Amino acid sequence: MKKACMGKILNVDLTRGEIKEEIIPDEVYQKHLSGMGLGAYILYNRVPAGADPLGPDNILGFCSGMLTGTGSFFSGRWTLVGKSPLTGGWGDANCGGTFSPAIKRCGYDAIFFTGISAKPVYLCIKNDKAQLLDASKIWGKDAVETEDLLRNTHGKKSAVAVIGPSGEKLSLISGVCNDKGRIAARSGLGAVMGSKKLKAVVLDGVQRIAVHDLGAIKKLSQKCAKWVTFPVPLPPGGIFAFVGSFMRITSVLFPQDGMLYRTILKKWGTVGMNQLSSEMGDAPLKNWGGSNVDFPIKKSKKINPDLFTDAEIVKYHCYACPLGCGGICTLKGEYSHTHKPEYESVLALSGLCMNEDLDSVFYLNELLNRAGMDTISAGGTAAFAIECYEKGILTIKDTDGLDLKWGNTEAIVALIKKMIAREGIGDLLADGTKVAAKKIGKGSEHYAIHAGGQEPAMHDGRNDPGFNLHYCAEPAPGRHTIGAYLYYEMFQLWKTVKGLPSPSPLYTKNSKYLANEEQAEWAVACSKFMSFANAAGMCLFGLFIGSKRVPTFAWLNAATGWNKTPEEYMEIGERIQTIKQAFNFKHGIDPKTFKINERALGRPPQTEGANKGRSVDIETMMSAYWKRFGWDEQTGKPTNETIKRLGIS
Ligand code: SF4
Repeated sequence: MKKACMGKILNVDLTRGEIKEEIIPDEVYQKHLSGMGLGAYILYNRVPAGADPLGPDNILGFCSGMLTGTGSFFSGRWTLVGKSPLTGGWGDANCGGTFSPAIKRCGYDAIFFTGISAKPVYLCIKNDKAQLLDASKIWGKDAVETEDLLRNTHGKKSAVAVIGPSGEKLSLISGVCNDKGRIAARSGLGAVMGSKKLKAVVLDGVQRIAVHDLGAIKKLSQKCAKWVTFPVPLPPGGIFAFVGSFMRITSVLFPQDGMLYRTILKKWGTVGMNQLSSEMGDAPLKNWGGSNVDFPIKKSKKINPDLFTDAEIVKYHCYACPLGCGGICTLKGEYSHTHKPEYESVLALSGLCMNEDLDSVFYLNELLNRAGMDTISAGGTAAFAIECYEKGILTIKDTDGLDLKWGNTEAIVALIKKMIAREGIGDLLADGTKVAAKKIGKGSEHYAIHAGGQEPAMHDGRNDPGFNLHYCAEPAPGRHTIGAYLYYEMFQLWKTVKGLPSPSPLYTKNSKYLANEEQAEWAVACSKFMSFANAAGMCLFGLFIGSKRVPTFAWLNAATGWNKTPEEYMEIGERIQTIKQAFNFKHGIDPKTFKINERALGRPPQTEGANKGRSVDIETMMSAYWKRFGWDEQTGKPTNETIKRLGIS
């Protein structure tokens, strides 16, 4: 019996209606783990060069992590993979909840879909039987309604992943939802699912996930639990606005320990960062053109973290998570509840659009989750439209009568509803800023903030240039879930992986803006680590606690019976990252085109606020990153030597 993994995948050909199991050789797991690693291996080898992301040759994979179901903490993330219609290259997104273990309990490490069904269908696996069933009655329903209907039909224990109307309408900023509106949002993979006429995946299995040494896993988990659960009293949430103001003005910094973030996360969830980020220059404001001067404390207090906990009626944990940053909040009006909005959603729908109405943020959060549309991209695209309106590029006639002024809550809500419905101006905007700017023209591309087609997350790379580097240099651009200088500090990899430098105990803020070799080394370490961690199914927030306190490498050895060193696991991450980069070259992507909009690089620099006077030398940084990865420093193409060393076919 395989240990930690199930040893096989399920391939579903939607054109032919065929469902086949495939045994995966042990060597593939040894080199890629499962999760994102297995997904990268399958897609790189099987999606033909130049395949249309919305055509039958694209493959959409639902991949469970190698550690999922083993008793290791933070290991319940699943990764969605496919060729992205948003960027044209490698696409992935991940989500927590209960879906990842459900894949394994059905006996598979991953389920891959090819082809296009003639009519809407969903896959149901129950009692070891997989079948495609008619979805015509649920097509058109939102993600929450669909999940409820499917669980009523197939049993309350079923785990369900589903697209909402946005995926059905092929919006390039749509994702795939599970656990009633949690969403694997990025890379536009909801549109891939919609193009395949696949409405949902329903899983109800009872298979066991075998591990090598359960006792060792438990011991490691108990030790880890001490770091995660010990209580730390915290002041009211508004205090972080003042911490952020201090961080804005100080000229020296010390490396951040993720224990502070852990503590914030446990009390408030990610919204604990709202005011801290707005004040210190981490949150992009007013379509990346504004600053804390435009969104001062008297405005940011309207998104004070305590307002979210006040509305929270229950906290929840993802599968196998001892931290539990999630929550359900009450809502006024059309819907009674919503998942507690994430920091990303709140800032995209408030500060980025200068919207000060928190009720509308809660409402839009639920609306977008149900539609299956990415809140980051939706907020980014709304902010783009507002700026185009301000500059006279879009007129009131173009906006279907909406007075798209900064902070006009009513107009912002109406605009996002139109985007979900693909109606009028909403149809123009439903594929994100890059596509919209191309259609609008008239210089609108200057206000379209994206990297390779994807709207970046709510972390300003003028504050932490590491974010800008990862936005531009990752095979899936515009992502905040891989690395930043801050992340390197919090991962504390130098404590577990030989040869990595520790940051100096005190450094000047200005030194962050030197595009030097050491910073490239930090970024490369983050990319390798997160590719590895996504293959293991780990949650980023758990990893912030530090690689020694959250012992992912040791858990893997205990679960599999392998005896790999942290350096060998980092090499697995390097291989996965290189395969994703090679995937992009196979599909004709020039990584230089992933460079983010000049405004986000501080070109020209801002004249006021937290990031005043800062600009980022991204070309030097990208080149240094590629070189350190063993990719060509001019083109970003993995060299033959690197491909050979990593054993990539
Ligand atoms: S920290 Fe939050 S997102 Fe991560 S696994 Fe736990 S509950 Fe889920």
